[in-house]
Amino acid sequence: MGSWLVAAVAVKNPRDRRLVTLAGILPDADGLGIVADIFQALASGRETSFQNYARFHHLWCHGWPAALVFAVVLAGFARQRWRVALWCLVTFHLHLLCDLLGSRGPAPADLWPICYGEPLFHHPIWFWKHQWRLDGWQNMVIFLVVFALAIGVALRRGFSFVEVFSRRADAVFVRVLRQWRTRLSGGNESRGA
Ligand SMILES: [Zn+2]
Repeated sequence: MGSWLVAAVAVKNPRDRRLVTLAGILPDADGLGIVADIFQALASGRETSFQNYARFHHLWCHGWPAALVFAVVLAGFARQRWRVALWCLVTFHLHLLCDLLGSRGPAPADLWPICYGEPLFHHPIWFWKHQWRLDGWQNMVIFLVVFALAIGVALRRGFSFVEVFSRRADAVFVRVLRQWRTRLSGGNESRGA
């Protein structure tokens, strides 16, 4: 949702907004090894050790090589290519920043580092020793703030983060939001649409 907010401010059409948003989500594609782990466990009947997840997650798509590949590929689908490439790099790195700040596991030692050169180079590796938990209150607060901002943008500009999935669903979502706003403000419904 943070990536979509950046996209909503930075680029001017739904297709480009979707691409810039995607660049902020794609780093976690390297976590899809978890699907293979689960299928292997189901097939073998044994408990999974999440080996594919552990081997690839935060390594394959969380470095500058993936940032460049994603930016070039996504820009290839864009209306404003240079602009989208640049903003894809921004949302990609916003994802890394969020991971660096708040993606720790349950124990204080479960820090998630950012291996910025992977999978080509083993260096540099960054971590922050005050990294907070993935399910920590800090992430909840950030989510609520970003969500409120996103709703504000949707009400004002007539499109929302739902457009990333479906523009038709987005039109319905924004219409309902505006109807609620009209009701809450005590006005009549037709005026708010
Ligand atoms: Zn990540």
